[in-house]
Amino acid sequence: MLTDNLKKKLNKTFTSKNVLSSIEERYAYSVDALNSDIKENLSDAIVFVRSIEDVQNAVKIANQTSTPLICRGAGTNTVGACVPVHGGIILNFSKMNKILEINTQNMTARVQPGVVLGDLQKEVEKLGLFYPPDPSNLKVSTIGGSIALNSAGARCFKYGATKDYILDMLVVTSDGKLIRTGSNTIKNATGYNLGSLFIGSEGTLGIVVEATLKLIPKPQSNQVIMAYFDEIESSISSVDKIISKKLFPSTIDFMDKNALSTVEQFYPTGLLTDKKAALIIEVDGEELSVNKQREEICAILRESLATNIQYSTNKDEAEHIWTARRSSMAACARLKPNVTTDDIIVPRNNLSKLVEGIQNICKHHNLITCLVGHVGDGSVHPQIPIDFNDKKEYKEYKLAKSEIYRLAINLGGTISGEHGIGLEKRPYIAQVVEGGALDYMRQIKKLFDPKNILNPYKIF
Ligand SMILES: Cc1cc2nc3c(=O)[nH]c(=O)nc-3n(C[C@H](O)[C@H](O)[C@H](O)COP(=O)(O)OP(=O)(O)OC[C@H]3O[C@@H](n4cnc5c(N)ncnc54)[C@H](O)[C@@H]3O)c2cc1C
Repeated sequence: MLTDNLKKKLNKTFTSKNVLSSIEERYAYSVDALNSDIKENLSDAIVFVRSIEDVQNAVKIANQTSTPLICRGAGTNTVGACVPVHGGIILNFSKMNKILEINTQNMTARVQPGVVLGDLQKEVEKLGLFYPPDPSNLKVSTIGGSIALNSAGARCFKYGATKDYILDMLVVTSDGKLIRTGSNTIKNATGYNLGSLFIGSEGTLGIVVEATLKLIPKPQSNQVIMAYFDEIESSISSVDKIISKKLFPSTIDFMDKNALSTVEQFYPTGLLTDKKAALIIEVDGEELSVNKQREEICAILRESLATNIQYSTNKDEAEHIWTARRSSMAACARLKPNVTTDDIIVPRNNLSKLVEGIQNICKHHNLITCLVGHVGDGSVHPQIPIDFNDKKEYKEYKLAKSEIYRLAINLGGTISGEHGIGLEKRPYIAQVVEGGALDYMRQIKKLFDPKNILNPYKIF
């Protein structure tokens, strides 16, 4: 609660331009991309932290006043991970956004948590280096947010997720101590892998105030192929064929007919809207090998009955294709007042059953769904435009969601591949993480945060 005591302490510790507490500002920072009910979850104040010391001071005040602390990068997570359940101080990292060092010899980057992912990628690429994790909203999302969610993206198929690129972190703990989780080395077998606990912990165990990231050499060239299909089944079976031939594209992404036509309606780029599905496949490496991979993949796509195959011949054309794919959620948001997305994942051999199952469930509940996904990983994002004020539609949506989660679990998969659990999937976690493991997770939370001040009421 925003008591006079809390207000006084915040105003005494931070300059006035770095503390927001008007009702309008508190509303603005109480939501993220989940679209949750703001009336119940109003933040108490927002603090723009600029240094590690600022973070430690905020932790001190939180402890003194028993106020929750909720870290916030760009607030783009889709599961309510930044929503202040029962209030709290929002720690905004947009002013801790410096790239502190790019070391070309060690191939590492040391960054503050508020650095925007796309900005970091541009900077390292100027030096011939590469930071692969690429959530579709990389133009705004931050390193801190992507560490806390273990974000991945299209390139995960070849290059892995955020966890594969974190060498070291400085973390402020719930009692205000500063700890280091790793080392500035490529390998480290020195005791427990403490860093892995913080990666994906959604800001519930500690506050990341600095990270050292592993970089790799930038691939010399790349090409993006877009192939359309008259049947979903043939698009998915071509994914299996590509992989079984031991080809290794950097991405294999998918859009269904609804996604193609919704994107084309609002952000026209010339997509073929009469097709049932499209695959977006990127290959990278040395120029000669890129051409060879493209030819082999295009041959498989033709065998798999792809009806139209296009590929980029320069950077702008590649970006043009990706812009269409990355616009899908924004386009869906134009159909109804709200939009939701998800990130269920199954072993790849069950992918077509998952895609078909989601479409049937949504149809049964009378919901529009635009399906996109990183299908090379077995992961699908059903984007559902909805009006939360329409009670009947909302009820059908909730039923559909629980059926989709059950389907993913029955197909041997899980309920989150990259977006996290947050508030949204909290009721479902016990269906996938068995009791003993969940008990250990709760004990870990108690150990790191005995007073439950770090992003409480999330995950479980
Ligand atoms: C259109 C769209 C497309 C997306 N595409 C993808 C995708 O392809 N792949 C994918 O993996 N994800 C995707 N996402 C979700 C993705 O996880 C987030 O967008 C992004 O990584 C979160 O970054 P953020 O800065 O917005 O974090 P926030 O939303 O601000 O925060 C996310 C979590 O991190 C915590 N946090 C933030 N900073 C810190 C810190 N310094 N220390 C501790 N905890 C912290 C927050 O408390 C919260 O729990 C997409 C989201 C949208 C809206």
